[in-house]
Amino acid sequence: MAIIPFLQGKTVAVMGLGKSGTATARALAGSGATVWAWDDQEAARRAGRDSGLTLKDLATADLSAAAALVWSPGIPHTWPQPHPVAERARRLGLRLICDIELLSRACPAARYIGITGTNGKSTTTSLIAHCLAAAGQVAAAGGNLGIPALDLPALAADGSYVLELSSYQLELLDQARFDIAVHLNISPDHLSRHGGLAGYAAAKASLFSRLKPGATAVIGVDDDHSRDIFRQVAADRQLRTVPLSVQSRMRGGISAPDGILIDDCDGEATAVIDLTTLATLPGRHNWQNACAAYAAARAAGIDIDTIRRALASFPGLAHRQELVAVIDGVAFVNDSKATNADAAEKALNCYDAVYWLAGGQAKEGGITALEYLFPRIIKAFLFGEAARQFAATLAGKAAVEQCGTLAVAVARAAGAARADRRPGAVVLLSPACASWDQFTSFEHRGEVFRQLVTALAGRDGAA
Ligand code: ADP
Repeated sequence: MAIIPFLQGKTVAVMGLGKSGTATARALAGSGATVWAWDDQEAARRAGRDSGLTLKDLATADLSAAAALVWSPGIPHTWPQPHPVAERARRLGLRLICDIELLSRACPAARYIGITGTNGKSTTTSLIAHCLAAAGQVAAAGGNLGIPALDLPALAADGSYVLELSSYQLELLDQARFDIAVHLNISPDHLSRHGGLAGYAAAKASLFSRLKPGATAVIGVDDDHSRDIFRQVAADRQLRTVPLSVQSRMRGGISAPDGILIDDCDGEATAVIDLTTLATLPGRHNWQNACAAYAAARAAGIDIDTIRRALASFPGLAHRQELVAVIDGVAFVNDSKATNADAAEKALNCYDAVYWLAGGQAKEGGITALEYLFPRIIKAFLFGEAARQFAATLAGKAAVEQCGTLAVAVARAAGAARADRRPGAVVLLSPACASWDQFTSFEHRGEVFRQLVTALAGRDGAA
């Protein structure tokens, strides 16, 4: 845990007592600050009090006595409505900051690598940390992914923080400065909280106004908004800017239009690695993540051979096209993280004979955008609230079975796939839905899938 000396003896307000807020309150208390902890939810307040935190209602507390207000990125503060506590703080000139800002001030000597974008942040963050570890460098990964910033170990000048940064966290930075910044892509997401796509893109782009002189900016250029960001950043001569594309060859950058990663940063195109051979990084979207990780790892001084080996030994992330088992030649893939049609599209694109497990709480538009992929679906096994709606979209285009629950869907899909014996058959959980109607989270849904498949494999023998 990092010690935050500049707030020792000061009063600090902490708004939001989820994972990151609780870690922040603990780190501040451990650093000798007086912590006023608060959450709008009664259950979170109770958990905070039970873990020894001092609660103070920040809606009425005298915020002029606070040296800082640490805000949990998950709590909306400006859009769609201003939060009353944030409003009071702004009137007093008290800036809202997040835990990553505190970490950067507590451990200023470490190297900071920040990763943002709409999709692929977790994968890219983990890949970069994996490359650093393979090179024997001291590294700690976290932020929006996994471990909250202030639960990470304190690092000195020989250490690197690899931080996944959501747009919400980026808005809550102040003096934090990065050595290597990666932006992957932009697609419409979380728009209500940023007052529209322009606000969202601006939040992502703000990472590049927080770079140290001489820093490296790695920027995906495969969508219009990201191309705009690249143009603006490339104009800054103090930075080294690396464009990357998985759609076309990139002079002076990194690209992989055919799956072969080409490094042309020095104006000499070198084929580095065939990304299509990496089993844990399937699909073009993952080529983008691999290219970004490669560029960041090169900027961190790692040699090409080590990066090549690290990409090949990446274990993959749970719940993102995770191969759980192969039973009788049928692959069982857990893509529970696909909580919308956009994400499910990425997985469906990777396989030709899919026994598709889908359903839960549908997002706007349902699965209509996936129609061009329906020929890949041998049969859809539907569960949860969206089952009827999805069946209507699939009607006449793919076979459908109503299963009610994930357990029934797994059993029915496994039976069908193993009876059909099609080459390349995949039982794919990529639900295109939120999980909350039947599970506590997408992770819970993925764990249940894993248990069901593991039980099948145990019973029938996995190959
Ligand atoms: P994030 O942390 O940004 O949510 P993840 O690495 O957890 O991203 O990936 C979540 C899902 O997003 C994946 O299961 C996949 O469907 C999709 N995805 C991953 N990488 C990309 C990418 N580079 N471009 C588009 N979609 C992606």
